[in-house]
Amino acid sequence: MQGFSGDQHFSICLRCLGRAYATIGHGLSNVERGRIHLTESLPILSEKGIAIVEEDQCSICRSVFRRMDDFVNLALNESSGYEFSTFLAGSTFPQDVSDEETLLQGFFGNIGESIKKEFNREVGKAISDRTGKAVDKISPDMTFHFDLEYYQVKLEIRSLYIYGTYIKNRRGIPQTRWIHQDNNGVSVEQIIGDVVMKHSLCTNYFLHGSGREDVDVRMQGNGREFVLEAQNPRKRSIDLMTIRDEINMTGDIAVDSLSFTSRETVVKIKGANHDKSYRVIITGDNPLDPQKFAQAVSRLSGKDIYQRTPLRVSSRRSDLIRRRNIREMVLEQISGNTAVCVVNAEAGTYIKELIHGDEGRTNPSLSGEYGSPLKVQSLDVIWIYR
Ligand SMILES: [Zn+2]
Repeated sequence: MQGFSGDQHFSICLRCLGRAYATIGHGLSNVERGRIHLTESLPILSEKGIAIVEEDQCSICRSVFRRMDDFVNLALNESSGYEFSTFLAGSTFPQDVSDEETLLQGFFGNIGESIKKEFNREVGKAISDRTGKAVDKISPDMTFHFDLEYYQVKLEIRSLYIYGTYIKNRRGIPQTRWIHQDNNGVSVEQIIGDVVMKHSLCTNYFLHGSGREDVDVRMQGNGREFVLEAQNPRKRSIDLMTIRDEINMTGDIAVDSLSFTSRETVVKIKGANHDKSYRVIITGDNPLDPQKFAQAVSRLSGKDIYQRTPLRVSSRRSDLIRRRNIREMVLEQISGNTAVCVVNAEAGTYIKELIHGDEGRTNPSLSGEYGSPLKVQSLDVIWIYR
């Protein structure tokens, strides 16, 4: 490989000379700049022993700008089968090329641009000319990473992000795959993700939920927000109405309001804290006293409660005492050993613990106020206030 350093002689082309002047003369190509600045550069060129040669003999660019068609072909071969409408090109050059260029541009006052920058721009133009697709510097569907040392291209495919809300009609379905493996492979994530995978031909998917309900809790009312991330999709223009209908055919969950979104929505919905309403079916060991029970409910309605981190989640959450407001608690029905209440509570309230008291870790609790043990038979989220 031809290199230069110290007293060694080296050779550059007009384009690489012009690139050393890239920040002056708008609207010119670097080849034109090289031509314009050649005369004034001659003293430095001769002092440093730099010869001006054709691009194919240039020790910096080594003719890469004359091989644009090859790079476009490489990119299009590699990306065939992937649907994309916007793209971006990036590149890495061998270290000695960058070093030589830095040295050269130093001779001319460091007012140039890097070969990488020119290459990215030129190969971007060439891909755009060939395909009609647009360069997008912020959020491209496809990024081509050209490796100029090995003449390879690597693809980076932007994930598809699909926003929606889900309702879970059946108990026993975890939200995501990995936490409950013994579930015959059924989770909200898989029910949604498998349908999206079928249509987008993605390689993997993740469900990002705005919080999660327990496995045994149904999610009803206006549903829970989520973003389904589909990685490395081959198809991007997929029909969300069809996808919604296919997901909803399973009956176990129902999705709605599907729309394409971006990574930012994941952060937004995961950070959201919303008050929620629940319907809870409560049982006692003995027939419940309707009057006493109603009084216990009304004493909690509108009150602050203190919840030490429940034992059942203590491996995942730090051991703290949290104050939570019970916005409203209403007794809907009571008969025999069973009562039905609707609870509207501040974000982050542990509802099961509010009822049974968690052996004194939640205080006050409905059990405590009622004066004998109460159990949660079933729990549904019935509204998320957002
Ligand atoms: Zn050159």
